[in-house]
Amino acid sequence: MYVLDKSQLPSFLEAMAAGRTVFVPAEAGGMTRFVPWQAGIQLYWEENPVISPKELFFPQTQVLYGYRTLGQQLEILSRDEGNSPRVIFGLRPCDAAATGIMDDVFLTKGYEDSLYRSRRQNTLLVVLACRRPGPACFCTSFGLDPTRADNADLMLYDLGAEWGLEAVSPAGQDLLAKPAGPVERQAAAPEFAGDFPLEIKVDHLPSGLRPMFRHQVWDIMYQKCLGCGTCTYLCPVCHCFDIQSHNRGVQGYRYRCWDSCMFSDYTLMAGGANPRPTKKERVRNRFLHKLQFMPERYGKFGCVGCGRCVLKCPVNLDITQVANRLAEVVANA
Ligand code: SF4
Ligand code: SF4
Repeated sequence: MYVLDKSQLPSFLEAMAAGRTVFVPAEAGGMTRFVPWQAGIQLYWEENPVISPKELFFPQTQVLYGYRTLGQQLEILSRDEGNSPRVIFGLRPCDAAATGIMDDVFLTKGYEDSLYRSRRQNTLLVVLACRRPGPACFCTSFGLDPTRADNADLMLYDLGAEWGLEAVSPAGQDLLAKPAGPVERQAAAPEFAGDFPLEIKVDHLPSGLRPMFRHQVWDIMYQKCLGCGTCTYLCPVCHCFDIQSHNRGVQGYRYRCWDSCMFSDYTLMAGGANPRPTKKERVRNRFLHKLQFMPERYGKFGCVGCGRCVLKCPVNLDITQVANRLAEVVANA
């Protein structure tokens, strides 16, 4: 393993930031999220940032193309392709796993989203191994290892007074070769300590949910949801978007922006029909999408147990309670 005295981290990040943008966890605008590193910035290591790194691959709003007309001529304007090299430094294994799921959604099954691909291809992941579970974590329910991420370029370990770094990919090895880089030395990764506060029983998933679509359990399950969409915006896996135009006479642009299946107009069609007319159908869709539809399509759950939705839902509609209630219903069917 390579080790770096914690006092040397700014120099290491400065060297890493030469020619690329390095995103680090920090407080910004009253929120914790990944922001571009700059000298003097205070890094936030307490817990997983509230805003996940998905916005770095899949921005909240993103111009698809701009246009300008001149008489009968139409000119398509350039857009930000996201080709500049980047590093996300200090994301957790659950968010790295979520990035892998987003890769499946945006880059597989015969459809490649070029805007997502360019950002993803140019981004290295330096993943911080967790040492203890957070107050709403349950990543192990889905078979994830809180100390490891297969898609990391570099693993980062908190060794107390030092950071430990271990290359997982050749690109990660290159990051270690910086002038202000860490030195190679015998050191052990720290043990993970503590019990997970939450758990989802997944033995019955996804097959047990197939007969549950019309079950009366949904008549109660949805009732306290406010339809605010907080859960979906904070989720590192949720990826619904809308496409809108901003037209100003002879010029404008078309953009996509995050949307939420928890909103009443998400499935509203131009003719007025809505296949998910009430919160019951929308709540059912959210949970079945994560626990049944995504595993059926991608072989992975649409949840990585990061706990953000559990912590931030204003009415505590907790996915672990929902999933475990569904497990009870399946077991008693
Ligand atoms: S559903 Fe909730 S716990 Fe699961 S990944 Fe999304 S925000 Fe995290
Ligand atoms: S955060 Fe809670 S109340 Fe808001 S839409 Fe999600 S489940 Fe419903």
